[in-house]
Amino acid sequence: LEKELIRSEKLQAVGKLASGFAHEIRNPLTTIKGFIQLFKETSEQKEEEVQHYQIILSEIDRVNGIVRDLLGIASPEYDEKAVQVNMNTILQDIVYLHKDQAQAKNIEIHTPWQEIPDIYANEKKLKQLYLNLLQNAMEAVKENGRVSIRTYEFLNEAGRSCIGVEIEDTGDGMDARTLSKLGTPFFTTKDEGTGLGLMICYQIVSEMDGKIKVFSAEGKGTLFQLTFPTE
Ligand code: ADP
Ligand code: MG
Repeated sequence: LEKELIRSEKLQAVGKLASGFAHEIRNPLTTIKGFIQLFKETSEQKEEEVQHYQIILSEIDRVNGIVRDLLGIASPEYDEKAVQVNMNTILQDIVYLHKDQAQAKNIEIHTPWQEIPDIYANEKKLKQLYLNLLQNAMEAVKENGRVSIRTYEFLNEAGRSCIGVEIEDTGDGMDARTLSKLGTPFFTTKDEGTGLGLMICYQIVSEMDGKIKVFSAEGKGTLFQLTFPTE
């Protein structure tokens, strides 16, 4: 199964709009959460009542998760200019961030990357991109598995130098319906998911004139293949 995520102005508009409101949503949520916590603690501790408060609190956390995912896009540093970076260095930083989590879940992160040329890109966005992809891969594997990250240089049909980055996991894969929905805002198959991670990835890659292809087999795993022009 394969799907190429194509540019869509509509999705970008959703992202921008939502990030504009994110700051405004966070403050009242904090107030609401505080009062609910107070009610929960001072309630008669009837089982049903406590359960209802718990549902409210976890729903507030879900909204907070959405806001958090969109705040990254809204922060001023996010619009910083492109600098000279090497994709391998960025990936190394992101892998390092997941080291403990991977060890605890017995997930091997395999990194057979090759020497690749530097590119000009926004470092923050690249980190967010790989953070979201690696997070998804680890969530798909759950435990006892492997995530491989490969990088390489190649020449495209026009003879231009490009960089390829492949993130492959031995997770549970995706069915055709899930695959066809990738990149759609708020589409998630997870209880605690925001459904924003891939929308953001897709935006970042398209801003860099790159491409994402996804190959997935249910029960076997998933491969995200990213390609970027080097200049
Ligand atoms: P979230 O992770 O919050 O659910 P994402 O936009 O990151 O949102 O991903 C959307 C959905 O795409 C996920 O809920 C999952 O169903 C699917 N998905 C993404 N990456 C993978 C992967 N590596 N393996 C299997 N399914 C994936
Ligand atoms: Mg995700």
